[in-house]
Amino acid sequence: MNKIQVMSEDLANKIAAGEVVEKCMNVVKELVENSIDAGSSEVKIELLDSGVREIKIIDNGIGMTRDDAVVAFQRHATSKLKTLDDLFHIDSLGFRGEALPSIAAVSHTTLQTSDGEEGTIVEIDGGKIVDVSSADIRKGTTITVRDLFYNTPVRLKYLKNLYTELANITDYVNKMALSYPNIRFILKNNEKTLLNTDGSGRLLKVINDIYGLDVTKKMVEINGGNEDYSLSGFISYPELMKSTKNSITVLVNGRVIKNNDIIRMITDSYHTYMPHDKYPIAVLLLDVDPILIDVNIHPTKMDIKFSKMNTLRELICDVISKSLSKLTLIPEASRTTRIENGVTSITNSYQKLYDNNEFDVTKKDEEFKEFEKMSLNLEVKIEEDNNYEVCDTDDGYDYDTVIDTSNDENRIKEMYPVGLVHGTYVVAENEDGMFLIDQHAANERINYEYYLKEMSNPKPNVMDLLIPINIELPSNEYIILKNNSNILTDLGFSLEEFGLNTFLIRAVPIWLPKGNEENAIKHIFEIITTHESFDLSKFVDKVAATVACKASIKANDFITLDDMRVLLSRLRKCKNPFTCPHGRPTIITYSKYDLEKMFKRSM
Ligand code: ZN
Ligand code: ZN
Repeated sequence: MNKIQVMSEDLANKIAAGEVVEKCMNVVKELVENSIDAGSSEVKIELLDSGVREIKIIDNGIGMTRDDAVVAFQRHATSKLKTLDDLFHIDSLGFRGEALPSIAAVSHTTLQTSDGEEGTIVEIDGGKIVDVSSADIRKGTTITVRDLFYNTPVRLKYLKNLYTELANITDYVNKMALSYPNIRFILKNNEKTLLNTDGSGRLLKVINDIYGLDVTKKMVEINGGNEDYSLSGFISYPELMKSTKNSITVLVNGRVIKNNDIIRMITDSYHTYMPHDKYPIAVLLLDVDPILIDVNIHPTKMDIKFSKMNTLRELICDVISKSLSKLTLIPEASRTTRIENGVTSITNSYQKLYDNNEFDVTKKDEEFKEFEKMSLNLEVKIEEDNNYEVCDTDDGYDYDTVIDTSNDENRIKEMYPVGLVHGTYVVAENEDGMFLIDQHAANERINYEYYLKEMSNPKPNVMDLLIPINIELPSNEYIILKNNSNILTDLGFSLEEFGLNTFLIRAVPIWLPKGNEENAIKHIFEIITTHESFDLSKFVDKVAATVACKASIKANDFITLDDMRVLLSRLRKCKNPFTCPHGRPTIITYSKYDLEKMFKRSM
């Protein structure tokens, strides 16, 4: 008895420090990881009221002997704290043993377990074993944790609302399911199934079980490697953009990690494919020699430092941008809203998640089977599609020659303009369906790629101004610009100091929009003076995007059918014709199939 008293005090300290069990999610995490360590091929998580009322974890692992089961609730007794190296071997999830006594100290816990030879039930109340009895010998362990924090009401108060608790748990279980496609995970809250994977080992199937078929269809498999790292997994089409990074899962040597550098590498790879404050859905599996990583562990999170960051960045950006460059990324109007709703209900809207009544697991399985069948057909079809004729329209504008057409592989089929809607959207068609093109976004993309190319020309084409422009600046800005004047001369500006805080500009690069030079120059000055740490490639990118926006047709500029033809044919020649430099879509489509379905011509 004494021993247990001492232990409880120790525990109380630990709990006060909030280290092990501060949220239902942490309890679920500890127990699920125990189940995985026990070699389970199936882990069931059943919650009542997001786990606050009850958390039940049922596994089919190796189970425990009666002695082990009793000892499991004593601090340190079952501790199998391993070396940091062990953490990165898949067979071990690291340091256990501390958690079970801590959880038992703040709840009513029942442990039912069997190693296949004897069955045991242990009842614990507030950390004290109150009963040990026999149970059946189904191999595996079931732990039931009821009324978590009943004896530490302060902690209970810190629990966020039920929706948030459930969202955190779901997020965690989703990530475990992605990490262990070979293990079947079932998650239920108040009898409602939120996740049910099949343990078949197929990562895409798990993605489907989590996000649904509309998302699965827009995931792309990636693969690549260099001397130090090997990379695989799935990334989403940019149209699936999310406003949080929750849907990016990164696994290093099989373990989920949190690392903002990697997340930045991923989002940078989507540069101009989506707005800078959005995130894709991604599951990235990195394999690396443990020598190259430095593990920094806290009981509730896991971060890693990588040596050879640059080669890792190169690999990730290269693999992702190459994959994106092979895709046709025209969002289908009829699906876009459905996808947004679907994804939101899983990760963003806690309430929807909590009240989810419609989740039909068997339907998900059937849909996926259909999809697998279809995608086999699809691969064949894509190969055929690549043979379409590239139709070149003749437009004698000089900047068409500048846009890189070296690989001559247009990423979209030719579209034929039909008219203009709201003075903003070009309506076009071809045999695949109907297209709406945002005339400003499309023009902006064309100009952006043109400016980028021109600005990176080491021998800029320069034009002398008939009337030099003089620009007076506040003295602090003048000093910053003077210090950075080489950037401007490299771009082709000819700049002279001209009296107090004033520059005289005699020549400008040829790409500067005509007729509005002064404003354009002021914008460029502004970009230089407002950016604290200067990064040339970011600067060039920003200037290209800004100037492109200014130089492009606006909404409510009415353009003729001929203008539209020119616009569409130039857009097709872009490296990325699908989004403007700010990541907004340039084109959306109603496929022929969708149109027929909507008009009930095909059922
Ligand atoms: Zn714009
Ligand atoms: Zn834009």
